[in-house]
Amino acid sequence: DRAAALAQAAEHCVTADGVRIEAFANLGSVEDAVVAMANGAEGSGLLRTEFLFLERDTAPDAAEQAALYGNIAATLEGRPLIVRLLDVGGDKPASYLPIAPEENPALGLRGIRVALAMPDILEAQLRGILSVQPVGQCRIMVPMVASVDEITAVRAVVDRLRVEMDITERVEVGIMVETPAAAVTSATLAAHADFLSIGTNDLTQYALAMDRGNPAVAGGVDGLHPAVLQLIAHTTDGAKRHGRWVGVCGGLASDRLAVPLLIGLGITELSASPRFVPELKALVRRLDTAACHRLALRALAASSPREVRAMAREFCQELA
Ligand code: PEP
Ligand code: MG
Repeated sequence: DRAAALAQAAEHCVTADGVRIEAFANLGSVEDAVVAMANGAEGSGLLRTEFLFLERDTAPDAAEQAALYGNIAATLEGRPLIVRLLDVGGDKPASYLPIAPEENPALGLRGIRVALAMPDILEAQLRGILSVQPVGQCRIMVPMVASVDEITAVRAVVDRLRVEMDITERVEVGIMVETPAAAVTSATLAAHADFLSIGTNDLTQYALAMDRGNPAVAGGVDGLHPAVLQLIAHTTDGAKRHGRWVGVCGGLASDRLAVPLLIGLGITELSASPRFVPELKALVRRLDTAACHRLALRALAASSPREVRAMAREFCQELA
């Protein structure tokens, strides 16, 4: 019932040895936010805003976006809401976005590249986000970052709008780590980003050069491939140098075998499917971070995702 759900929500998620891990939920609608709250989510680490832009003839204006983000923020009752900037590309066409058909949409105009090519779309979205009260509950997250220039370009627009809108509060701007370039240069990017959140779905696709939607290679697309784990380890190392936190908002955050490994690699925020949050919190509370770290070191040296999964399964079976 609602009282029990709220009591669970109020309880922060901490490992057995006392390390705080934020248990967040991924959202794509107001309905998802209701489900996330009922399941004890401590906030949202990823609001996919594409749902507002697809299947319509014109782009939503700032007021329409403000109303929707405000509704979701209110549903979360003050908890953090990380709003990802529009992440459409050649594979998710919107008639009013003049993106020419591409031979290779995964490597084309997508994510932040679209927004920077269409400044009106970016500005309307940022105005919508900045209009939500209280300012600061919404944080901004930039998708598909490959270089520092993309962060500084977004930050420049945010700062201009803050002046225009008389906003004195600082607004956090973080990035998604979804390209191997971002993982490899995380120390450089972390100097300019308030936080980093790893999109393991795309990071796996790009690291392994395997289309995440192609059934012919589906068996090989596993985020627990040691190559992906190396990129995650590199990301947390780089971010630490600038004191930034690193989360995961891709599918690995909802994978029970991946959770101990991610925590062992220094991840402190997990944004999962709303319905996975109760299990996620229960699991985190049984974990010891030093044991997770030892498991992660073994996984980094493993030779296949299968071997990593076997290690993780054994680790989970031995949990108290
Ligand atoms: C990801 O790539 O892991 C991610 C969270 O973004 P999406 O799945 O929306 O591409
Ligand atoms: Mg992605």
